[in-house]
Amino acid sequence: RYVWLHDKMIKEEDAHLPFFDRGYYFGDGVYEVIRIYSGKPFMLTAHWKRLERSASEINIEMTVTKQAFSDIIFQLKEKNEIHNGYVYFQMTRGIEERQHLYSNDLSPVITAFAKESDIPLDKQKHGVSLWAMEDIRWLRCDIKTIHLLANVMAKNTAFTHGAEEALLHRGNTVTEGASTNIFLVKNGVIYTHPADNYILNGITRQVVIELAKENRFPLKETPFSLIDISENDEMFITSTTLEIVPVTCIRGSIEVTLQPGIVTRKLQAAFQAREK
Ligand code: PLP
Repeated sequence: RYVWLHDKMIKEEDAHLPFFDRGYYFGDGVYEVIRIYSGKPFMLTAHWKRLERSASEINIEMTVTKQAFSDIIFQLKEKNEIHNGYVYFQMTRGIEERQHLYSNDLSPVITAFAKESDIPLDKQKHGVSLWAMEDIRWLRCDIKTIHLLANVMAKNTAFTHGAEEALLHRGNTVTEGASTNIFLVKNGVIYTHPADNYILNGITRQVVIELAKENRFPLKETPFSLIDISENDEMFITSTTLEIVPVTCIRGSIEVTLQPGIVTRKLQAAFQAREK
């Protein structure tokens, strides 16, 4: 396999990372995951913009132009012959002897790889279960940082309880999943947490909001509560790798059984029909 390190593509076995990378010691960096559909990157500009914003919010200077970002993704997917899959792109603040205070003249370290990955049709059809638990992350979840320990622990807690994903809530307010955004459909209205500091503004979330508009489904970027979720509602989760997946069961802080519903199915169909 070929991977990207700094400014070139090399064999994975030749990719050696600097010992004092701040990403390794502090999780001091940002990343993106970009879907490849039939050899074509999906929503490239949106990913680029989010990366630029994430970097800027933690004062990492963007050393990669949009063209360079795009070239890296194209070269990786070409060389590795990715048809359907994704590219992972990471940028850390740089290399210096471990200290909390960062120097302002560091060169960010770029690493990226491509992976073939099928669309999870089974999950999309049958749905997944969630484990509801308190969201203990920091208050800047809008930044796509590589510091993901709370997300990692949440996902693993969910798996330990036989669920595929976590449903995170702050008090009673549902924020998002460990690596997904969460939507509730109640009385024909779609609700999802607003894109503030409590969630990552998912690219798939943004696509779903567009699709809802195009199809005239009422959608409110308004937080909803654990108490709002009832058996008659629909829920679904979204992410770059999952697309749109229905939720069929929630356990943990609450216990609810749900069915994949008509709005979810229509949004899934609209997502498939969208040009990729
Ligand atoms: N929320 C979190 C915390 C995530 O890590 C992710 C993706 O990894 C998402 C939401 C979904 O974002 P996207 O649709 O851009 O993949």
